[in-house]
Amino acid sequence: MQRHIVIVGAGLCGLYAAYLLREKYRITLLEARERAGGRILSRNGHDLGPSWVWPHHRNMLALVRASGLEIIPQYSQGEALYETPQGVQRFLPPPSMPTARIKGGVGSLVDALLSRLHDVELRYEEKVTQIIQGSEGVSAVTGRGTYRADRVIVAAAPRVATRIGYTPPLAPMTEGALNAVPTWMGHARKYVVAYAEPFWRAKGLSGFVFSHSGPLAEIHDVSTEEEGALFGFVRQGVDTQEIEEAVIAQLVRLFGEEARHYRKIYDGHWRRDPLASAPEDAALMTHPEYGHDTEAYDGRLHFISTEASHIEGGYLEGALLAARDLAQKLWYCERE
Ligand SMILES: Cc1cc2nc3c(=O)[nH]c(=O)nc-3n(C[C@H](O)[C@H](O)[C@H](O)COP(=O)(O)OP(=O)(O)OC[C@H]3O[C@@H](n4cnc5c(N)ncnc54)[C@H](O)[C@@H]3O)c2cc1C
Repeated sequence: MQRHIVIVGAGLCGLYAAYLLREKYRITLLEARERAGGRILSRNGHDLGPSWVWPHHRNMLALVRASGLEIIPQYSQGEALYETPQGVQRFLPPPSMPTARIKGGVGSLVDALLSRLHDVELRYEEKVTQIIQGSEGVSAVTGRGTYRADRVIVAAAPRVATRIGYTPPLAPMTEGALNAVPTWMGHARKYVVAYAEPFWRAKGLSGFVFSHSGPLAEIHDVSTEEEGALFGFVRQGVDTQEIEEAVIAQLVRLFGEEARHYRKIYDGHWRRDPLASAPEDAALMTHPEYGHDTEAYDGRLHFISTEASHIEGGYLEGALLAARDLAQKLWYCERE
């Protein structure tokens, strides 16, 4: 009989682990939300979570290609803007590492992965509240049922994983190790503002802005074939009710009156999302050293997520690598 693995969390890491392990194991994938993707969230082709891939993210680029999706370069032609309380200056940024986006949004990659998981039992709205070690395996408990398995893989940010109850409790060292890992972009709030046209391009502007004064600290052009769009990361500490008005006022200051006539605003408020981040996740000044290797219950309970990868931890690439590393470990341990 095939061994059974329960994976908790259908973000990129959990989905990719399910994809890699599905031929050798029976897989049940339990997701708390009503959708897959976790920190990946695209609406009308606009990314409210991650948007970029880089040339050295080879596994991501290979997966995008294998999924029949297209990579589009980040628009960067023209001048950038630098905003301070004293005013706005134009400048020509020095060349930087090219970044690219996935046509249709990163959510298209999630859809493509889902289409390959028909042999996986994927259950939405199944928030795992308890994980219990039994004599012959491990069980994951949700409001709807108990799922017994040979192994459980928790594929959520480490601090989010500690919100689950564990019986017997995790060793203090294990819990401490998970709690010590900051969630990448766990503090983030990202606005996307869509327009009929990318009107700033005709003014010789790339859409890239660094601001020390507006609610959006960093802005980029993320237009699609259908419409113009700008995304901005909300400055840490800005959390007012009137934030949408302040965002539009800032865009008008930077790009002119046309910015007032937006089609739609999208709000990716990750720091308020308990399935994506923990209350102690603050803004990170530098990229943390990721790569924890944490397991429990005699090696039958595993913790993965992008933060578990030594290489490109935090990024989409790290989520793929963390899933691949665990899959290789399980194939090796259980080869016969
Ligand atoms: C605003 C923002 C911008 C970003 N920009 C980029 C970028 O440009 N490029 C890049 O490479 N990366 C970027 N990232 C990082 C990227 O999003 C992550 O690396 C990646 O999505 C993490 O995937 P994951 O599967 O490890 O975790 P998650 O996506 O967090 O997945 C965890 C899953 O577990 C589920 N879950 C949690 N608890 C439970 C439970 N108890 N029971 C059941 N399910 C549960 C969650 O709902 C979620 O679906 C960005 C992130 C954010 C937030």
